[in-house]
Amino acid sequence: VTPPAADEFELSLFGPGKGECALVHVGDGDWIVVDSCIDRSTDLPVALAYLSELGVDSGRAIKALVLPHWHDDHIQGASLIHAAAPEARFVCSGALNHADFMRLVASAPKFDVTVPDGRDVAEMHSILARIRGRGGPTYAGPDMWAIEGIPVFRDAARNIEITALSPSHHTVTLGHFAVASDLQIEAGRQRRRLVARDPNQTAVVLHVRVGAVVVLLGADLEEGGDTRTGWQGVVGSQVRPAEKASVYKVAHHGSPNADHPDIWTELLHTHPLAVLTPYASGKKPRPAESDVNRLKRNTGHVYCTAPPRGFAPPRRDRAVERTLREVAKNRRALEGAMGHIRFRCPITEPPARPHVELRGAAVAL
Ligand SMILES: [Zn+2]
Repeated sequence: VTPPAADEFELSLFGPGKGECALVHVGDGDWIVVDSCIDRSTDLPVALAYLSELGVDSGRAIKALVLPHWHDDHIQGASLIHAAAPEARFVCSGALNHADFMRLVASAPKFDVTVPDGRDVAEMHSILARIRGRGGPTYAGPDMWAIEGIPVFRDAARNIEITALSPSHHTVTLGHFAVASDLQIEAGRQRRRLVARDPNQTAVVLHVRVGAVVVLLGADLEEGGDTRTGWQGVVGSQVRPAEKASVYKVAHHGSPNADHPDIWTELLHTHPLAVLTPYASGKKPRPAESDVNRLKRNTGHVYCTAPPRGFAPPRRDRAVERTLREVAKNRRALEGAMGHIRFRCPITEPPARPHVELRGAAVAL
């Protein structure tokens, strides 16, 4: 529970069975937060809980809050982080930069948060309202729309550069044709998803270089079989940084639709440190056993914030257990204790063999 030294890099990945959050220490007490999830034991965003555990003042320390992607397992509590971090630059996917999207966010108070996506829209609404309240323009938006090739954080003096590798320009173009028909602006009356297009396709992958340490944060970006979008779009990009990463936050909880062989050959060094969070609330929990095997064929260092098979359900009263057995073939808890994978190393010298600390439910695979 001691903070990293001023010249020490840190990547911390947190996740229960639904939700993930990454923190990056870029040196000198400055942190970047990517994604948000709530720690059920404190009811706080895990990013704030962790920094306070380290004795770090979030208000000064958090320099950027990046929401790469529009699903509630990545966005819960984001507005609380934003409220606590007045210096943080707010970054989200450039594919959302649409009049329709901004209208949807503006209309958030009119619908209830139980509509699918409603909570996400509400988080965005409260962040943008705060940006406006802090003296921003009348029509406030994020401080930065991330698109392929755009640096979202840069400090040349300290040799820090964080660059968005996606969404690709072509993905943004496709979004212009999709968004208008997909957004259900009168959402309060319709029990439809607000954003029908799959947000995973517009997720922001980040290339993080801090001194000699290079990390690839894969968000939930999927591969769509088109050279201009998804992971092929990242690999083929003309404007991405060339340095390969030695640490990878695996995309989309290890799903096969978010993997591509070129990630491992073109974007990563051999046998990188691979870290991921599980997703237990879908029909098929991820990573599945086949996903774990696939990841392990690519690297010998794979860590997950919780056991991939999900959590044992809490034990109920005997009569309740009997009834549950009668009505359900099987069951599992969607969320368990918060797991934490922490990687630290000197900014000037990443280790040849990565060493991580595991806390809570986190496991080596
Ligand atoms: Zn996810």
